[in-house]
This record gives sequence, structure tokens and C-alpha cells, in this order.
Amino acid sequence: AKEYGKNTFVYFNNSINEKLMEKIQTQSELRKAIENNEFMVFYQPQMDLQTDRIVGFEALIRWNHPEKGIIPPGEFISLAEETGLIVPIGTWVLQEACYQLKQWEDMGYTNLIVAVNISVRQFKDQDFVQMVKTVVEETGVNPSCLELEITETIALQDMEYTISIIEKLREMGVVFSLDDFGTGYSSMSYLKRLPVNNLKIDKSFLDTVLDSRSDQSIVKTIISLAQTLDLTVIAEGVEKDEQGLFLKKAKCNKAQGYLYSKPLPKEEAEEFLKKV
Ligand code: C2E
Ligand code: CA
Ligand code: CA
Ligand code: CA
Repeated sequence: AKEYGKNTFVYFNNSINEKLMEKIQTQSELRKAIENNEFMVFYQPQMDLQTDRIVGFEALIRWNHPEKGIIPPGEFISLAEETGLIVPIGTWVLQEACYQLKQWEDMGYTNLIVAVNISVRQFKDQDFVQMVKTVVEETGVNPSCLELEITETIALQDMEYTISIIEKLREMGVVFSLDDFGTGYSSMSYLKRLPVNNLKIDKSFLDTVLDSRSDQSIVKTIISLAQTLDLTVIAEGVEKDEQGLFLKKAKCNKAQGYLYSKPLPKEEAEEFLKKV
């Protein structure tokens, strides 16, 4: 590009290099983070809207970086996905979450659910089913208390394969939720074919639900669609009382959001469990 001055070109080049270097550094740090035990799982409560009691937690990863402190998943999950590191990281999250769930089960919380996010790369890994089986067996958790959250993008390439993997794990008792519902493509046709148990309404719908009647109709329509298909519905990103009230009236089953609690480290999650 001749029209750019020499300096501009050099500057442009440097900033690309900087970004690339940063990425390479994060990548190598990410590689070591598992061995160095730098990941943590936080737990965000999921509430039953009819009883106002806690029914489970969503497990959400955090990276406790030695210099940078706690890094949210938004800053490293896509890189982990790109490099394939999400496969061992995801296995670690599942192990940690199941180990914790087992401890809570042993404390008497036998119906408590823990939901774990599964990325596309992880789901498509040829050892995925066996990995989940092994973790369930080794930790001794009740598989029907384990939920796996997947997104529609998982089904994009090969629907038959996706269905077969879900069915294999469901035979063991494992439960599936379709995450971020409404944000992907052809939601309706996928939803009909995917053998999932639950549907999570994306936060973006909750953000606008108090604004207009048409936004309210959309959420109500998603809830009744789910119920027609025999799915339970959970709303995420619930921040205001009025949103919770609206969902309760609309007969949404569960809700998750800052209104009830932020994601908590395991000790605080346990305190929450004892209180609510
Ligand atoms: P997600 O699965 O949609 O998770 C919900 C995100 O919304 C979480 O962000 C949660 O902290 C946040 N959230 C919950 N309630 C509220 C609310 O009321 N208001 C607002 N503003 N935010 C709320 P987080 O923990 O930063 O995770 C971001 C994303 O990173 C997750 O989105 C998920 O896609 C991914 N992720 C997190 N943990 C894992 C993991 O272990 N494996 C994989 N593959 N992805 C993960
Ligand atoms: Ca999720
Ligand atoms: Ca979500
Ligand atoms: Ca989301």
C-alpha cells in the first residue's frame, strides 16, 4: 500500500507484531497454567423461580494469573479454542466441577445440579464421550446432576454426529442444556432436532425485556416454545427484580444472574447453598 507514508506502514507493522507477540506469550502461559494450577472454577447459583430456592450452579472458569491477577474467560477462551488447549483445560474444569459436586452430594445436597460449559472443539474431540464417562466414574457423581451446556454452533457442521454424541451421554444419565439460545442461526430447526433437556435464554433477551411489550412477547414465545418441546427453561443475565418477577409470571422454570448472585469461589458458593 504505497499511499500510506513510510512511517504509517512501520507503525502499522509494529502494532501487528505487538499483538502477535502478546498472543504467543499468552499461549505459552496458557500452556503452563494447567500444570501450575492457575485455573479456578467459580460457581454461579441457578434459582428455581417458583420456590425461590437454589437448584444448582453454573461452573465458570477463571485464570488466576501470577502477575495479572484474575482473568475472566472472555480474555482467553477463544485463544484456548484456537490452539486446542481448550481440550485439556475443559477436562480440568469438568474434573474440578465434578469433584466439587461430589463433595456437596456427600454433604446431603443430593439434588444439586452443576452445569459445565463445553466448547465446540472439546465436543468434537474423539475422546469426548470416554472422557466424560471417566470423570463421572472417578469422581462418583450422580450423572443426572451433571449438566453440559452446549451452543448451537456445535451442531452447525454435522448434525447427525452431534445428536449421536448427546444420545450416548444421555444414556448414562448426563443432562444437556442449549446455551445462549436465540443468538445463533436457524434456532428453531436446530432446537427441534437436538436432543437437549433444557434451554437457556440468552442474556440479550433479558436486557430488553422490560423495555417493550414486543420484547416481552419474544421471551414469552421462547418459553412456550420450549414447553411445547418438553424442555425446561432457564433465563440468564437476570439483574433486576422486575425481570425476575416477569419471568416468574411467564412460568420460566429457572433463573441465573446478578440479582441472585455473581459467580462465587467454591467456599462462598457453599455458604450460599447453606443460606438459600
Ligand atoms: P456463558 O456460558 O454465557 O456464561 C454466562 C456469563 O454471564 C458468565 O460470564 C457470567 O458471569 C455472566 N453473567 C451471569 N449473570 C450475569 C448478570 O446478571 N449480568 C451480567 N452482566 N453478566 C452475568 P463469564 O464467567 O465471564 O464467562 C463468559 C463466557 O466464557 C461464558 O459465557 C462461556 O461462554 C465462557 N466460559 C466460561 N467458563 C467456561 C469453561 O469452563 N469452558 C468453556 N468452554 N467456556 C467457558
Ligand atoms: Ca453457559
Ligand atoms: Ca450463556
Ligand atoms: Ca452468553
